Amino acid sequence: MSDDIRTKMGLRPVINVSGTMTSLGASIVVPEAIEAMAAILPQFVEINDLQRKASAVIARLTGGEAGFVTASCSAGISLAVAGTITGPDLLAIERLPETSTPKNEVLVQMGHMVSYGAPVDQSIRLAGGKVVMIGQATSTHRYHMENAITDRTAAAVYVVSHHVVDYGLLNLKEFVEIAHAKGVPVIVDAASEYDLRLFLEQGADIALYSGHKFLGGPTSGIVAGKKELVRNAFLQNMGIGRGMKVGKESIFGVMAALEAWEKRDHVGIRERETGYLNLWKETLSDRPGITALIEPDPTNNPLDRMRVIVSPQEAHITAWDLAARLRSGPTPIIVRDHEVEHHYFYLDPCNLHPGQERIVAARLAEELDKARASNEVIATPFEDLSRHRFDGALRWPD
Ligand SMILES: *Cc1c(COP(=O)(O)O)cnc(C)c1O
Repeated sequence: MSDDIRTKMGLRPVINVSGTMTSLGASIVVPEAIEAMAAILPQFVEINDLQRKASAVIARLTGGEAGFVTASCSAGISLAVAGTITGPDLLAIERLPETSTPKNEVLVQMGHMVSYGAPVDQSIRLAGGKVVMIGQATSTHRYHMENAITDRTAAAVYVVSHHVVDYGLLNLKEFVEIAHAKGVPVIVDAASEYDLRLFLEQGADIALYSGHKFLGGPTSGIVAGKKELVRNAFLQNMGIGRGMKVGKESIFGVMAALEAWEKRDHVGIRERETGYLNLWKETLSDRPGITALIEPDPTNNPLDRMRVIVSPQEAHITAWDLAARLRSGPTPIIVRDHEVEHHYFYLDPCNLHPGQERIVAARLAEELDKARASNEVIATPFEDLSRHRFDGALRWPD
């Protein structure tokens, strides 16, 4: 542990059972990408030519006609939307986010208006888009979308995420069918999805991915799809895209991560992760007040997680206090806790270095034993946590 670069810097050596979170450093970058980045950093290259090479790799893996690399999937949303508003008009590109045409409306289902760390709609507004929400939180019908499309509609954005409402909304095929019937391009935010082909196959004109999530690339976004729309998005690098630029290392790093993805032993990795889940299930079995369930990923990525349900009266601790205790101490373990007020959190096995699964098991057992030995139920009122949620950020850098 002592030669851990984080401990040397005075940073906590966190173990990530939360998922690919920007706030934790996204993912473990694959060795192929690290080597590629190191190799290109000392060299000069003509960036647009490097992006042409990236386009070919992205096209091959996604089945799209073209592609490029940008700073993040969030940047990809802004650039793709901007491209549908400006087309290849270089002056319009410079003028964004002010738009010179009334054709700047972007349709989004209300149940897709989520935050991935920042609100989806903001990435659209940054590009000069005017968000037009369709449907209600848990329902969108065809008539909502059909009636929302006008001469002012530039694009329709579809979000694939465990955060979105997963019932009652239009699925991608219907969404595409309705948009295309009126000539509206569809942009899919597939930031966190494993399947690099599915959304374009289902008719999306542009599919967006994060380079730093399952792909294990550097922090980046991938824009893929129809050549003309991808080009119009790419041209935004002379406008709003400047602040979202990536260097040669990220472009080349993503190319390497994509090529490594093609060769990755996906079955072997899944087996290893299943081993972790089984170990944790064993650790948690027969513990009072704890139920451990292995559940599939909600957006059908080939990945299972463990749902740990905590009954405070029997476990003598709430799910959120358990999560907080795991997060403290010399080996902080960060669990996936966005629904923790429902008395459960998840353990995500896909960002662990081998051996860390045993530390997770040991810390779970330790904290649960301690809680059981406590005479009182450890129960911080949940409101106290939510009230103080942003205290740290608001004190930054102190
Ligand atoms: C992670 C995520 C984003 C943001 O991706 P970045 O590449 O980190 O900007 C956007 N949308 C969804 C659905 C995500 O999961």
